[in-house]
Amino acid sequence: MSDCLFCKIAAGEIPSGKVYEDEVCYAFHDIAPQAPTHFLVIPKAHIGSVSEVSADNSGIVAHIFEVIAKLAKELNLDSYRVVSNIGEQAGQSVFHLHFHVLSGRDMTWPPG
Ligand code: 5GP
Ligand code: ZN
Repeated sequence: MSDCLFCKIAAGEIPSGKVYEDEVCYAFHDIAPQAPTHFLVIPKAHIGSVSEVSADNSGIVAHIFEVIAKLAKELNLDSYRVVSNIGEQAGQSVFHLHFHVLSGRDMTWPPG
């Protein structure tokens, strides 16, 4: 999508701190980290949020979770949280599917 911030980051048109990249997804450090480790994993293809996941694109999501597990092992994250906000009330501010990976501090449950 031409006017989407994360499409531009995935395409390298806007700089970001790359953590990982392959043909399907891109991972980068969050610009406003909420934990000592906080990166985002996004599909290169534009998907608005989890609410747009379907049989046609769920393979991309499965792949992203494989990548998250691989990166967590490589980074020695023994405890971490994966979050995806859907809709403004839940805290979504960028409307391109992304999974937050947070680690390195105590976290509360339920979330605020
Ligand atoms: P959301 O609020 O939609 O769940 O998450 C969006 C995340 O993107 C936020 O944590 C925010 O800090 C991050 N973010 C917003 N703009 C940029 C940017 O230009 N670069 C990077 N690296 N992260 C961004
Ligand atoms: Zn996008």
